[in-house]
This record gives sequence, structure tokens and C-alpha cells, in this order.
Amino acid sequence: MAITIEKQVELSSYTTMGVSAKAQYVARINSVGALVEALNWAKNNKVGILVLGGGSNVLLPRYFEGLVLLVGLKKKDIIHEDEYSVELLIGAGENWHEMVEWTVEKGWIGLENLALIPGSVGAAPIQNIGAYGVEVEEYITSVQYLHVETLDLIWIDRDKCNFAYRNSIFKDELKNKAIITEVQFKLPKNAQLRTDYESLGYFFSQHGIHNPSQQQLFDAVIQVRQSRLPDIQTQGSCGSFFKNPLLPSEQIDRLSTRFPDIKTYPMPGGYTKVAAGWLIDKAVGKGFRKGQVGTYEQQALVIVNHGGASGDEICEFASLIHSKVLEMFKISLEAEVQIISKNSKDI
Ligand SMILES: Cc1cc2nc3c(=O)[nH]c(=O)nc-3n(C[C@H](O)[C@H](O)[C@H](O)COP(=O)(O)OP(=O)(O)OC[C@H]3O[C@@H](n4cnc5c(N)ncnc54)[C@H](O)[C@@H]3O)c2cc1C
Repeated sequence: MAITIEKQVELSSYTTMGVSAKAQYVARINSVGALVEALNWAKNNKVGILVLGGGSNVLLPRYFEGLVLLVGLKKKDIIHEDEYSVELLIGAGENWHEMVEWTVEKGWIGLENLALIPGSVGAAPIQNIGAYGVEVEEYITSVQYLHVETLDLIWIDRDKCNFAYRNSIFKDELKNKAIITEVQFKLPKNAQLRTDYESLGYFFSQHGIHNPSQQQLFDAVIQVRQSRLPDIQTQGSCGSFFKNPLLPSEQIDRLSTRFPDIKTYPMPGGYTKVAAGWLIDKAVGKGFRKGQVGTYEQQALVIVNHGGASGDEICEFASLIHSKVLEMFKISLEAEVQIISKNSKDI
């Protein structure tokens, strides 16, 4: 057997939340062959699997009974380039921010607004990562995955991925069935930069920048993020814990009458997105703390681990926030973070 199955591995350094967690078994996956071998091993040993990229969107249990697959599939290929665009094939295990940095260095347009999002390329399509007015679905052309049951390697085109706000087929129909191995992107070379997002516009006006270059936009996104989000090197966090709820306009009208300063964003299809951070801020406030868990001082949507909190404590804190928001606004927040049970994803 080419792969090594490690036993009783401490996982806290593999996730950004920094909770103490241990896996019964771990395999480091550097090729599709190794992935197939690991899946066969899990099947033969009748254990469940958990796929981990950068661990920046998961909350782990204290002990995971099963096999954790650490996806380290590397690839950074240019598969087509002409004067208008470039097509890239990127391995699931590549670091997202490093890939974005590379595209900005090359002058390929599109991903600069998504700078500094933690995690791997392979996880980016799963929740259709987005920030500062851009969602990754705009630049993905197809996704390759290994089907965990049939072990077939399958390409799925962008228009079949059912991309939506923080959602895709990988969180729905293909949940627990697909392990993403490669992602294909198409980036234009001459396109309008997306500088219109409120906080970026404010940043540029504060810095006297009128027509930002791609590099200036990339730098601005990094600086704005650093001023608003915790530094995952020093503080445990998974970023936004909840999704921004999408509500029908009648509900928004009622809420706006009661809360005139409610923060909303119109969306296609007659829905309006409400800033979950605003709701949480009103319900419990920024910097609200119970024991070692709290909302971040700069942004109430972010839950932080002040040190030593367990996954259960963080879940309890998230439930408290959920119930406070429900009580005040009659809105049921949905977690964006994937909460992993102690033996999820049986195969
Ligand atoms: C400080 C901070 C800021 C953030 N800001 C943003 C933001 O602006 N926008 C945004 O959209 N997100 C944001 N996030 C969330 C997170 O960075 C993204 O969701 C990211 O794509 C997760 O990548 P990951 O590799 O860490 O995934 P992981 O946390 O490792 O995994 C997330 C889920 O995907 C599954 N998974 C991972 N890799 C694969 C694979 N190859 N195949 C199949 N399943 C897989 C896991 O099983 C798990 O269910 C932020 C997080 C933090 C900590």
C-alpha cells in the first residue's frame, strides 16, 4: 500500500478555529491514486471519512471516529492562453490566496476581490466563496471530482454546479459523494475591475486613489479584510459563522418599519439579503463573550475562540446567538460553517 494511515492524530493545527480535536485515522492525499486507495481502505475497514482542505470552514468534534483525508493535491497549469483570456487547471490542495496572488502578478483579472480568503482551491466551489461583490462561480468553468462510491473521476461543468449564494451542488445533491480534485478557471485579461463595493470605495476615497489598478485593488481587499477580520494565525475563527439570510420583500418591509437602519442588499428574484452581522450586533453585540467563545470586536458575524474552547462550547454559543436573533427578528440563521459530527460521512 502506497499511502500511510496515521493513527490518533491531533487536528487542532489543521483547522483555523483552533479547537482541540483528534482523528482516529488520517491520510495525506497527494495524488488521485492515493485518494482511491484511502477510500478503499475506509470501505474495507468500515469507517467514515472526512475531507479537509485548509480547515477554515469546519467545526470539528473532540474526536472524529473515522478517516480524515487531508487533501494536498497540487497543480497549477495554464491550459490555454490567448490575447483575451487564460484558462487554468488548479489542484484542489493548492492554497486559495496564493493562487489569487499568482493571478494578480500575471495581470489576469477576476479573483483579486477574493484575496486573503483562507483555505484551499478545492473547497472554493463548495460554498461558492464570495467577497466584496464577487463570487468564484463567475470564473469557474468546470470542476473535477472523485465520486466516493463509484470511484469515477468526473468533470462537471459550471452550469451544472447549481452555484448560488454560499451554495452549490457539492453541498446538496453531491454532499458526501464528491471529493474535488481539480478546478478549472477562465480569467479575462482585459476586464473592468470590481471596485464598487461600499467598503472598497470608502478605502479608495480615504487613500486618494481614483482609478485603482488591479494590484491596488488586491492590496485594498487585503487591508480592508485585515482591519475587519481576526488574524487566524493568532486567534481561532472560521470567519462568518452564519449565512446572510435571504428574505422575501414583504418580510423586509415589515422589518424595515420596526428597524429603519436594518442593513439589506437587494438580490435577483425578488429576495433581499440581510446582513447577519447587523442582526447579531443588535441581538447580542460585538465582543459579546461567554467563557472562551465570543463574537469578534469588529464584526459580530464572526465567532472567535479566545483560547481553549471546545467544538461543543462553540456550538452552544452559536445556538445562543441563533435563539437571540430568532427572538428579536423572527429570523432563523443558517450556519455557514460545516459542523462535523463525530463519525460523519459513512461510505
Ligand atoms: C478569517 C476567515 C475569513 C473568511 N472569509 C470568507 C469570505 O470572505 N468568503 C467566503 O466565502 N468564505 C470565507 N471564509 C470561509 C472559508 O475560508 C471558505 O469557505 C474556504 O473555501 C474553506 O476552504 P477550506 O479549504 O479551509 O475548507 P475546509 O474548512 O477544509 O472544508 C470546508 C468543507 O468543505 C469540504 N471539503 C474541503 N475540501 C474538499 C474537497 N477537496 N472535496 C470535497 N469536499 C471538501 C470539507 O469536508 C468541509 O465540509 C473565511 C474563513 C475564515 C477563517
